[in-house]
Amino acid sequence: SEGKRRAGFLRGASVPLSAMLKRVLIANRGEIALRVRRACREAGIETVSVYSQADAEALHVQLATRSVCIGPPRAADSYLNSQALLSAAIATGCDGLHPGYGFLSENPEFADACAENGITFIGPSGDAIRKAGSKSAARDLMRAAGVPVTPGSDGPVSSVEDALAVAETVGYPVLLKASAGGGGRGIRRCDSSKDLPDAYAAAKAEANACFGNDEMYLEKLVLEPRHIEFQILADRQGHVIHLGDRDCSIQRRNQKLIEEAPARCLTPELREEMGRAAVKAAQAVHYEGAGTVEFLLDSDGQHFYFMEMNTRIQVEHGVTEMITGVDLVRQQLRIASGLPLDLTQEDVTLTGHAIECRINAEDPTANFRPCPGKVEFLHFPGGPGVRVDSALYNGCTLSPYYDSLAAKVMVHAPTRLEAIRRMRRCLEEFTLEGFPTNAELSYELLFHPTFVRGGCTTAFLDRSLPELLEFSRRVDDHKG
Ligand code: ADP
Ligand code: ADP
Ligand code: MG
Repeated sequence: SEGKRRAGFLRGASVPLSAMLKRVLIANRGEIALRVRRACREAGIETVSVYSQADAEALHVQLATRSVCIGPPRAADSYLNSQALLSAAIATGCDGLHPGYGFLSENPEFADACAENGITFIGPSGDAIRKAGSKSAARDLMRAAGVPVTPGSDGPVSSVEDALAVAETVGYPVLLKASAGGGGRGIRRCDSSKDLPDAYAAAKAEANACFGNDEMYLEKLVLEPRHIEFQILADRQGHVIHLGDRDCSIQRRNQKLIEEAPARCLTPELREEMGRAAVKAAQAVHYEGAGTVEFLLDSDGQHFYFMEMNTRIQVEHGVTEMITGVDLVRQQLRIASGLPLDLTQEDVTLTGHAIECRINAEDPTANFRPCPGKVEFLHFPGGPGVRVDSALYNGCTLSPYYDSLAAKVMVHAPTRLEAIRRMRRCLEEFTLEGFPTNAELSYELLFHPTFVRGGCTTAFLDRSLPELLEFSRRVDDHKG
């Protein structure tokens, strides 16, 4: 592949990125807006920021040379307002738009509208988003492509009776899941047919409120699984590669809290097999850009099932960047510009171990209730192998209108144990005063024998929460 690689390298290197994209509208806020800006600036591409009335003082606006107010605080009136975003892009002469994650990043109509207005959407085509976006339809596509999926409904379930019938065939416990779901919302567990009618109504209502779409599907609950996902890159020329895996099993309410790469539980053989399945999944939807294929790995450590494909940059992309040395946002810009990948599957090597802790403004002792507020004092850890992505600064206010992510603390070290030690050291340094966060809980978790052993499944955190909280309270008493 030396020849192929050289050819790819020359094709890529001879064209500066800034000749392909001149000015990019960053259609997002918070840490991901800064992350996208960094990649653009390093590539010599100009950027334009957008903000809601609630974000006039936000860091992504303060750092911007050019920014446009796109509406009132509510996301529906600003960051989800596709017309306002398109108008801002056109008015400021942007030829590209980066959607970040959340908001409109997985909205196929928005991707299409950008294209129709001559603006390069930095992400996959509307068609690819449409195919992967409905989680129930994606299951059918993947099954047809030979990618294993969890036992469950073929497509959506149309009624309680339909759901009861499917549950009877796959066996309880089952999960009812929203086809349009994301961020752990619209999911309900049922342990028996007695639970199902109420769970069905509750999941439908939540899906309707969160996503404006209450289509449901059903999956068998996989007991004590691990969440293992693969990072994909695919170019317009049809090359698809994966950049290894991440273990995101440390979750609360089906939402990720700590992620690491590579997953400790994968043998090289299983990694290769799952990587091939992830590539196949991307090919099945004619994918283009950076994406993530999520799997559940059964407790036998052998069987794995496709769960969903996220057609955007992922919150936890940084741990993959650390172990591969690949700048994923820069790759997104290259691919959207029409440049071929400048690396092959053989070029991808996983070096060392990386861990990310998401620090959120939330109270772990009150069911993780979000509790944003004013930052009274802030100090981030640093030193060798440390990266912190955050849009907070001393004196700023973390807005109650948007998600409660305050900072992503990432570490890289030669081995997993060294990475754990480094992360403990980082969370000791991490200082954020003004509102409660999960930082102490995550710190305790880094000492838990099950975590240190690499034995955590997705059920671990919810089960161990009382124990972990009790411990951090005792440490507090001791300190006081
Ligand atoms: P990951 O953390 O793996 O990147 P998540 O599903 O947690 O993926 O979503 C990342 C961000 O996007 C979160 O802030 C979440 O609230 C938001 N998000 C995810 N899906 C949707 C959706 N369908 N609509 C609105 N926001 C979403
Ligand atoms: P979202 O779009 O909200 O990210 P996912 O389908 O990715 O929804 O599921 C979120 C989390 O819920 C998973 O990471 C996993 O922990 C849990 N989960 C989802 N489906 C199943 C299943 N069939 N069995 C066990 N756990 C599941
Ligand atoms: Mg998911």
